[in-house]
Amino acid sequence: MTARMLAGGKLAVASHNAGKVREIAELLAPFGFEVLSAGDLGLDEPEETGATFRANAELKAVAAARAAGVPALADDSGLEVAALAGAPGIYSARWAGEERDFAAAMERVRREMVATGTIDTSARFVCALSVAWPDGHVETVEGDVKGRLVFPPRGANGFGYDPIFVADGYKQTFGEMDPAAKHAISHRADAFRRLTAGVLRA
Ligand code: IMP
Repeated sequence: MTARMLAGGKLAVASHNAGKVREIAELLAPFGFEVLSAGDLGLDEPEETGATFRANAELKAVAAARAAGVPALADDSGLEVAALAGAPGIYSARWAGEERDFAAAMERVRREMVATGTIDTSARFVCALSVAWPDGHVETVEGDVKGRLVFPPRGANGFGYDPIFVADGYKQTFGEMDPAAKHAISHRADAFRRLTAGVLRA
C-alpha cells in the first residue's frame, strides 16, 4: 500500500522538549509546514504504554492529531544492546530514572553486559517517527545507526548514551564527535530521510 502523503499546512510536533521541537522545525523548513509545538497547543503527554518504538511514536502522534485537529508528528527513540536482547530499548530514558542520571544508566548497561559474560558489544540507536492525521490514520518510519559500545564513557557532547556509542566506521563516540557530524549519521537523520522520501511532499 502506498503511504498517505502530507503536503504543507499545519503540523503539530508532539513533544514538550523545546530543543527537539526546534530541531524538527528546522528539518521540516524546506517542506513549508507551519510547525506548532505540543506546548503551544496545550496538549497532554500520553503515557508511553507501547511495547515498541513504533507503537509509542504512533500513540503519541495519534493522540496529538486528535487533540489538535491537525496532522501531528511524534518520535520515539532509544538504544538497543544486542547482548541485552535489545535492552534498554524503549526503556532507555526510564533507565536514567527521574533524575535523568545517564552516568548511572550507562553503568547499568556495562554491569549487565559483564554479567552476561559476552564479548559482543554491538548496539544500535533506533528512532521511530510517526505522522498521524485527525481521522486516526498514521504513517510510521524507522531509522537506525549501528555501532558498538565502549567503556568507560568518553566525551561531553550530545546527551543520553552518546558517550558509550561508537558508530560503525568511526573511532570517536557520539559524545566526542562534532554534533553536526553525529546529526548527519544518526538514527534520527535516517528516520527523517525515510519520512521525507515517503510521507512528506515538498
Ligand atoms: P525519547 O525522547 O522518549 O525518545 O527518549 C529517548 C531516550 O533514548 C533518551 O532519553 C536517551 O536516553 C536515548 N537516546 C535517544 N536518542 C539518543 C541519542 O541520539 N543519543 C543518546 N541517547 C539517545
